Amino acid sequence: MSDLLKELKITKTPNPKAKPDPAALGFGEEFTDHMFILDYDEGAGWHDPVIVPYGPLSLDPAAAVLHYAQEMFEGLKTYRTEAGHVQLFRPDMNAKRTNLTNDRLCIPFMDEELYVAAIKALVSVDADWVPDYPGTSLYIRPYIIATEPFLGVRPADQYKFIIILSPVGPYYKEGLKPTKIFVEDEYVRAVLGSTGYAKIGGNYAASLKSQVKAHKKGFTQVLWLDGRERRYVEEIGTSNAFFVIGGEVFTAPLEGTILPGITRDSVITILKDRGVTVREERFTIDEVYAAADSGALSEVFASGTAAVISPVGEMLWKENRITINEGRIGPLSQDLYDTITGIQSGRLADPYGWTVRL
Ligand SMILES: *Cc1c(COP(=O)(O)O)cnc(C)c1O
Repeated sequence: MSDLLKELKITKTPNPKAKPDPAALGFGEEFTDHMFILDYDEGAGWHDPVIVPYGPLSLDPAAAVLHYAQEMFEGLKTYRTEAGHVQLFRPDMNAKRTNLTNDRLCIPFMDEELYVAAIKALVSVDADWVPDYPGTSLYIRPYIIATEPFLGVRPADQYKFIIILSPVGPYYKEGLKPTKIFVEDEYVRAVLGSTGYAKIGGNYAASLKSQVKAHKKGFTQVLWLDGRERRYVEEIGTSNAFFVIGGEVFTAPLEGTILPGITRDSVITILKDRGVTVREERFTIDEVYAAADSGALSEVFASGTAAVISPVGEMLWKENRITINEGRIGPLSQDLYDTITGIQSGRLADPYGWTVRL
């Protein structure tokens, strides 16, 4: 199926947009000149790849995605190195995770080589949109929607795989500033057996109410607890969560309720390389608070593609407020941020083979 890209038809826009000021880039607010689209029809499979000018989609109002949320997405970034090359970070992992998600939502599988080749083809067409200002990158958003018009509940027979691109600035403009986290003990994100491990819009729609609540209380993000007992620590917002306790690093295991983050995987690999013990096991919010009391909790951070590493300076659980590392970024968080962004941007050597040059 990866031969499919030989049929790729490219239509360039006659009216390229003006590029935004790279020093003023936000996150996901501007989009490039082109997008990639691949259609799926039952019987024909994935077919007719095109790159066309960026613009509105035409959908039947009965399209299944609009009613029952049969939708998945991915997120990755591409960077311009100091030497001027454009490189992707672990795109094969996004392709693999797409099929993990597709399986859960009964969306047809995609050829993983085709997936990466489609990303490369679109980024090549819009390569002059990859910014070179420090801390900037081009965010890639592949997604799949069920387009078949019908109101019955069953997996759709028609889909669109679409890729759009957005030049983005550093997630935190002032540099790595520790965030304030609200521990959510009312609503939950996932339970075992539901869709917690799948990257789907539906999980996000269900999380908004907690996010709004946290923002109203003056917090940056929520920490999710497990869906059954509201005791076990799971994720922070839309990133994976790490706790440094007594010199060891704790993070929730991949048992079906949390997203298998690619940054999470990179963090664990680098920590193990540094000789740090990483424990992927269940641990409770009580244990985190006990460690804070005893002074054993030295750092908390979140990992994800958008912010890479996001240190946590403060947490509130019920009425109990704790400050972590006096609200300052800790040494492991800083080291991980510098190492991962260094490899991504080509500033540091890539001993893991994670970068893929265009
Ligand atoms: C995307 C995502 C992450 C982070 O995954 P990365 O591959 O590191 O970007 C973590 N949790 C949730 C819920 C996510 O959607």
